Amino acid sequence: MSRIVVWLRRAAILFVLLAIFVGIGAYILYFHRDTLAAAPQHARVAPTVTPLKSLAACWVETGNTFTNYPFAMTAGSILVKHPAGDLLIDTGNSSHFDDEIENYPVLLHLELKNIAGQLNPEVPLPELMRLVGGDPTKIRWVILSHTHLDHAGGLMDLPRVPVLLTREELLYAFDSAVQAKGFVIPAHTRRFPPVDAPTLKFDPHPYETFDESTDLYGDGSVVVVPLRGHTPGSVGIFVNLDPHRRLFYVGDAVDEERGFQDRVSKSLLLRDSDNDAARANEIVAKLNQLHQMVPELAIIPAHGRSAYLKFFPGGALSCVSSDAPR
Ligand SMILES: [Zn+2]
Repeated sequence: MSRIVVWLRRAAILFVLLAIFVGIGAYILYFHRDTLAAAPQHARVAPTVTPLKSLAACWVETGNTFTNYPFAMTAGSILVKHPAGDLLIDTGNSSHFDDEIENYPVLLHLELKNIAGQLNPEVPLPELMRLVGGDPTKIRWVILSHTHLDHAGGLMDLPRVPVLLTREELLYAFDSAVQAKGFVIPAHTRRFPPVDAPTLKFDPHPYETFDESTDLYGDGSVVVVPLRGHTPGSVGIFVNLDPHRRLFYVGDAVDEERGFQDRVSKSLLLRDSDNDAARANEIVAKLNQLHQMVPELAIIPAHGRSAYLKFFPGGALSCVSSDAPR
């Protein structure tokens, strides 16, 4: 056998081994999930949703990856256009992401750049907001599902605006150990309210399967509930356009739809971002329970692009309005 054939055969074996290695790695790191215990039974308090004229939700996507695959990821905002002043839910990455992580230790820098950094905006959030008819200078509030850098970063691109955060989330965000791990960027916290003046708290009003809630506008259009686990003050936000068009934005309580559909854990790759793994898994089970009770409710994980596409058939940079016919 000629030498070339021998080398070709070796190269082919090496290629196959490499492909198997990459496949197993991807399976262990991303695709494999553990099934979680079911949530204890909980009564449901179904809200009465009265449609509000000209209420709209718009998907302002600032970053994405793998858009041609079912596991596509996304980051950005949902803009709620409300007659009493607009609300922005989460803000995606800062357009200064790379500068903000520049001084972190080499390994952490690499991790941030190659995971969260893949969702960096090419066009800053305010410009994208304008494309869906939003005005970045007239936002009433920003609410953050939690304070991680890929949800709070876009604040750096916006004019100063009141940011709704609970005391428990502020305590977490200002913790120097949390900041040293790169979960929260110190520059972002300067846009937050001080720890002793939190801007969000819950009332003991049951809502859906949650024991506490807060009705932001007092009209039932936007209702916030605690989802403590991924971070101590993580929240979920219901946006009720009408009785049949309701979304529930759950931040990073689950990383993709499989979490609440199949009651499975996060991928190994992302699990380390959960501040309290046991509570985070309980929340996943609770979301699965809610999904089974209210299958028509559109549960949207912050990074789960397939879930956005179901609620926003027009795709990124489109709106769904209470005025539009179903
Ligand atoms: Zn995130």
